[in-house]
Amino acid sequence: MIIDHPNTYGAQDRLTCGHCGGDAMLARRSPHPDLGDKYEIQIFRCLACGDEKHRTVDAAGQTYESVSCQ
Ligand SMILES: [Zn+2]
Repeated sequence: MIIDHPNTYGAQDRLTCGHCGGDAMLARRSPHPDLGDKYEIQIFRCLACGDEKHRTVDAAGQTYESVSCQ
């Protein structure tokens, strides 16, 4: 039996680019160094301009904190 968790950590999310308003998709994800494996850091990259946005989410995809790197 295959259990699909499409929304785990919000990996399917698309964010709005804060720079140009385009679609930003998940480019990289890693466990959070301080909060442990219940949280992960995600880097979204805008498809249009390449601007990157970092955020921390929990396993349910709820944003813990959202930080723009620029
Ligand atoms: Zn952009």
